[in-house]
Amino acid sequence: MTTTTSARVDPILGGLAVPTGLLIDGTWRDAADGKTFPVTNPATGETIALIADGGPEDAHAALAAAARAQSTWAATAPRERSEILRRAYDLLIERGDFLATVVTTEMGKPFDQAQSEVVYAAEFLRWFSEEAVRIGGDHTITGNGADRIIVTSEPVGPCVLVTPWNFPLAMGTRKIGPAVAAGCTVMMKPAEQTPLTMLALAQIMQEAGLPDGVLNVVNTSDPGAVVTPWMSSGTARKISFTGSTEVGKLLLRQAADTVMHSSMELGGNAPFIVCADADIDKAVDGAMTAKMRNMGEACTAANRFYVHRSVAATFAERLAARMAEMKVSNGFDEGTDVGPLIDPDAQAKVQGLVDDAVGRGATVLTGGTAPDTPGYFYLPTVLTDVPTDSRFMTTEIFGPVAPVIPFDDEDEVIRIANNSDWGLAGYIFTQDIDRAFDLGERLEVGMVGLNTGLVSNPAAPFGGVKQSGLGREGGKVGIEEFLEYKYFAVPRRRAV
Ligand code: NAD
Repeated sequence: MTTTTSARVDPILGGLAVPTGLLIDGTWRDAADGKTFPVTNPATGETIALIADGGPEDAHAALAAAARAQSTWAATAPRERSEILRRAYDLLIERGDFLATVVTTEMGKPFDQAQSEVVYAAEFLRWFSEEAVRIGGDHTITGNGADRIIVTSEPVGPCVLVTPWNFPLAMGTRKIGPAVAAGCTVMMKPAEQTPLTMLALAQIMQEAGLPDGVLNVVNTSDPGAVVTPWMSSGTARKISFTGSTEVGKLLLRQAADTVMHSSMELGGNAPFIVCADADIDKAVDGAMTAKMRNMGEACTAANRFYVHRSVAATFAERLAARMAEMKVSNGFDEGTDVGPLIDPDAQAKVQGLVDDAVGRGATVLTGGTAPDTPGYFYLPTVLTDVPTDSRFMTTEIFGPVAPVIPFDDEDEVIRIANNSDWGLAGYIFTQDIDRAFDLGERLEVGMVGLNTGLVSNPAAPFGGVKQSGLGREGGKVGIEEFLEYKYFAVPRRRAV
C-alpha cells in the first residue's frame, strides 16, 4: 500500500463529512509523521480519501490515553455506560443511510445490505447497553460451611480490538459495545481497506457522550507497527480479534508473552448439508442467504454444499437458476444483488479456486468468471461434480461461488464435513427434527443453522471451535469476555 505525506481530506459521503484522522484521547489528529494512505472504492478502483497513517508513536499515544482513562471509566455507574451505548444506538439508526453509504463506498456491498449491516451493528450497542446494568457476581458458602465466597466482576482493563473489512461497522460494535459496557477502554485498529466506517462510528460514539480516551482509533497501512507495541506493552490486558486464522495465530503468540486475555473470531469453512428429505426450495433459499450475503465474503458463508445424491441435481439446477438472475453491479445501482469483491487479489483467488476445481473435472452450471467491467466483480457461480480433493474443501472461498458435492449417507457426510481445521458455522436442511438435531450435534462447529441460512444475531453467542477461534461475541456471554472475576473469602460468624 502506498503511503504519502499528502494532507488528508475528509470526504463527504451521504451528505456528511467523514473524519480521516486518528482519534486519540478525544482529539482528531494527523499521524505523528504526517503520513496518509489511500482508501479505494472496490466498485471503481478509484481513491475515495486519504487517511492518517498511524505508526508506533501514535500507537503509544493511544495506549497512554486508554491507560489514563481506564480507572475513571471503570468507576462510572453502569447506568451511565448503558445510556451512552443506548444514545449511540439511536444515532446509528438515525444516520443509517449515511453509514450505509460509507460502508458501500469503501467495502462494495449492495446498499440495502449495508443498511441491514447498520441495523445489525446498532443492535450490538442496544444489546450491550442492556447488559451493562446486568453485570453480576455470585455468593456461595464453602463446602464446610466456614466461609462465604463472594464473587464480583471487574473490567479486564485496556483492550486491543482489531477488526476486518467484511462487516466494517458490525465487527466494530460487536467489540466496542461489550468493552464499553464492561468498563474497559479501547485501542481500536480497523482494517486498512475500510477505515472510514470505523471513523464515522467513533465520531458517533463521541457524540453519544463517550469520555475522551475511552475509545482510541488508529488506522494504519502497516498493522504490525501499531498493534505489536500494544501487544507487547503489558498495559493492554485483552486482545479481541476478528480476521484470518493466520493473523489470529500471530496475535495469540504475541499475547502469550504478556499473558493477555484473548478472544479470536477467525476463518470458517462452513458445510451446508441438504438431506434427501429436505424441502428443496427452502434449502435453495437458505443457500442463497448462506452463500450470497455480502458476496460470499462472510466467515459464516457456506463453503461446501453437500447434497444427498437423490436431490443433488435438482438442488444445483434451482440454485444455479437463482444465482444466474442476480444483478452484479456497483452497490449503489438500483436492484444490485452482488457488489464487487474487496480487491484484485480476492478476485484472482476466487478465479484460482474455480480453475482448480474445473481442472479436476467439476462442471460450471453458471458463472465461473469475472465480468469484463472495471472494479473487482465476480459472477455468481455454481459448480457440480466437485471432486473432494479440490482446493475448495480446504480453502475459505470468500466469494460468490457454490461448489456442490453429492453424498450418499449421513455418517459419510458428517465425516467429510468435520474433516476441516475450522469449525465456525454449519447448515443442515431436513424435515426430520430428530435427524436435524442428531446431525447438528455431530457437526464440529460453534453455530448450526437448522433449515435457515442465517445464524448471526446479537442475542446469540457467535463464535467457533477448532481453528475458527476462542470465545464468543454477543449473547449473554458476550460481556464476560471483557470481565475478570474477583472473589472475596469471608469467614462466617456462626461457622460450623
Ligand atoms: P486479516 O486477518 O488479513 O485482517 C484482519 C485484521 O487484522 C485487519 O485489521 C488487519 O489490518 C489486521 N492485521 C493484519 N496483519 C496484522 C498483524 N501483523 N498484526 C496485527 N494486525 C494485523 O483478515 P481480513 O482479510 O481482513 O478478513 C477476512 C478474514 O476474517 C476471513 O478469514 C474471515 O473468515 C474472517 N472473519 C471472521 C469473522 C468471525 O467472526 N469469525 C468475522 C468476519 C471475518
